[in-house]
Amino acid sequence: MPIFRKRRWTERSRILALMLAVLVPAAALIVVSFLHLRSIQRDGTVEAAIQRDYQQVLAIAEKQIIKRGHEVAKSAQKDFPRIGDSERLDLFLANHPSIAHAFFYDKGRGLNFHSQPERLRDPQFRAESEHLSSMFDKWFEIEAQDVVKKVQRMEGDEPIHLTSNWIQRGEKWEYQSLVFFVPKGAARHQIAIAGFILDTNYLQGTFFPQALKAIIPCPTESGNDPHGAQTAIMVRSSKDTTLLAASSGWDGGPPELERRFESAFPGLVLGIKLRGTTIADMGRRFLRTNFIILGALSVLLAAGILLMYRNVTREVALAKLKSDFVSNVSHELRTPLSLIRLYAETLELGRLSNPEKRSEYYQIIRKESERLTALINNILDFSRIEAGRKEYEFRQTDLADLVRSTLDSYRFEIEQNGFRFEQHIDEQLPQLHIDREAIARSLLNLVNNAIKYSSAEKYLGVNVYRSNGAVKLEVVDHGIGIPAHEQHKIFEKFYRVGDPLVHNTKGSGLGLPLVRHIVQAHGGEVSVESVPGRGSKFVISLPVRELMEVPEAKGAAA
Ligand code: ADP
Repeated sequence: MPIFRKRRWTERSRILALMLAVLVPAAALIVVSFLHLRSIQRDGTVEAAIQRDYQQVLAIAEKQIIKRGHEVAKSAQKDFPRIGDSERLDLFLANHPSIAHAFFYDKGRGLNFHSQPERLRDPQFRAESEHLSSMFDKWFEIEAQDVVKKVQRMEGDEPIHLTSNWIQRGEKWEYQSLVFFVPKGAARHQIAIAGFILDTNYLQGTFFPQALKAIIPCPTESGNDPHGAQTAIMVRSSKDTTLLAASSGWDGGPPELERRFESAFPGLVLGIKLRGTTIADMGRRFLRTNFIILGALSVLLAAGILLMYRNVTREVALAKLKSDFVSNVSHELRTPLSLIRLYAETLELGRLSNPEKRSEYYQIIRKESERLTALINNILDFSRIEAGRKEYEFRQTDLADLVRSTLDSYRFEIEQNGFRFEQHIDEQLPQLHIDREAIARSLLNLVNNAIKYSSAEKYLGVNVYRSNGAVKLEVVDHGIGIPAHEQHKIFEKFYRVGDPLVHNTKGSGLGLPLVRHIVQAHGGEVSVESVPGRGSKFVISLPVRELMEVPEAKGAAA
């Protein structure tokens, strides 16, 4: 039917439009995010961002170490003796074990160079002291004026100049810090310099480790690291790659990023890296996590859309079934009503003299009104079930007896319709706790279907027998049968098989859902075995329960 097809098409296109309205923006979002992640991967954006962070960390570290260096030097400067007071230089050295050498230089009196008295017993240290003394002596002869000017030009109270001093110990060049300042008591135009040298051991063993710890505390103290890994920094001399000092998280290997000290500690290099990982690894991990999240989101989205599609199609199908149901039911109501009216009018006119004819007409009126009652009962029962108000009255019943009496009042009609009717009912069936009316209605629905959906071979069989813990009630026909893929759907409300043979038969699609509901309310099951063209077998299986277990009261259906 073209109208029917057109309606289905508009429904389908409406669902499709709805799906597209969700799908297109969602898919676009996923694609854009994916491309964005690819561009991040291609340009190394994550790595660059971490590197920028680390440049900043190193710049701050450099500033803090220089500040700390100045603090240490200034506090020693405070104790430094006045110009010319060379006796006090030894006391100064004794009070400051971190200082290896201390000196005065005065343009008139020359250099006064003292070294830690305790350590002078070590020949290597003595040689170092003599070497430095003669070197400074020569150097100040030429440079003293410039050094004084340099210090005087510096800002602050009693300014100091902090720089490096390399000394060779064996094969190795060791780093020391050299501090210059104008000594207390020096006249304004006097060319006088005082200074001291912070020892390598102190710098390596105390100063730098403490300074680095202040910048990057131990992992337990540091709390959360912004990148989820422990950052570590170190200081090395620019002359070789061996470490001078490192923060606690340093685990060896080359640093990710380095920065040279610009002042105060020239010749030293700061380095930074991550413990146990690299920036490249972190970048990879970041991208992998994001790709996985994006993938998972896409799968969820696809699943959600599929679910929505299935739901919407089911709703649309149900709406269609409902509208078909209304037209089917109206049709089913109209036919018996017009027959009843037609025959009642004929009888009313009183023109029928043949008593047989009259009785036939009465019979037709009765049968048609019975059909109407059955249909209306089905509809009423169904609406009670839908509203959750269907109640059953369970009683001890002899099922064999119930089946026999139900079929007896039907037998005539069955045989009149040309059906071969067979009935096998086992004797000695146990009593069942059932609602008589509901089970009888289920049986009639199945029998009615068997009659309605039989064409060539008209056969109806009803069997009742005991099987395991249940009593089975079978209704067998040799009718048109039901295709395998439709068999689970026929128990859904309003569902009718899309076969032209079925469409030409009156029906509402309520019979089987009702049967299933009734049987399930009895704790049983209904099943179907069917081969198209060969016939169907519907089996109601009702459990046999001990008397004591079964409640006597009325049971409300769920
Ligand atoms: P209806 O009022 O359409 O008969 P039912 O719920 O009783 O509604 O049955 C649902 C559908 O199952 C029927 O429309 C028919 O397609 C199919 N069906 C039910 N019983 C039989 C049967 N005995 N043989 C073939 N098809 C059947």
